[in-house]
Amino acid sequence: MAKREPVYVALGSNMGDRGAHLAYARNRLGTLPGTRVAAASRVEETAPIGPVPQGAFLNQMVVLETTLEPRQLLGHLHAIESERGRERQAGVRWGPRTLDLDIVRWGERSVREPDLTIPHPELPHREFWLRELAELDAAREPARG
Ligand code: ADP
Ligand code: MG
Repeated sequence: MAKREPVYVALGSNMGDRGAHLAYARNRLGTLPGTRVAAASRVEETAPIGPVPQGAFLNQMVVLETTLEPRQLLGHLHAIESERGRERQAGVRWGPRTLDLDIVRWGERSVREPDLTIPHPELPHREFWLRELAELDAAREPARG
């Protein structure tokens, strides 16, 4: 079997029981077809980004191994966000959310479509994502053959 590319998904929450939303997402991602959660970073608290006044975020990054294609995974991520009561307001970005699931990186793949960009364009600007990625990569090293 071909070696799976590691898929990095960022979890974020700043509304309600933030820890419970992250735990739900971690478990739920493992129930997606052909998908396994291979590793998870520590949970970090970060200040909100952007102009909207809102509470602090809890963030975490996980590594998935999956047979899904990027677009299929994105659809599942939106469904999981909805399961936690997230409502998308048309035109409002950067607002408070119960659960935000972003695809940060997909092996060495590059995707550029109107509603899906991989690697995630914010990656170079979010120190906590870079930190979480480094933490996960360090944990993966010994397993590489
Ligand atoms: P935010 O940019 O704050 O995460 P949303 O979660 O509302 O805002 O995402 C807005 C849109 O970003 C999604 O509907 C999705 O189509 C698009 N998008 C583009 N690239 C990605 C990606 N790599 N991961 C997740 N969503 C993405
Ligand atoms: Mg998002």
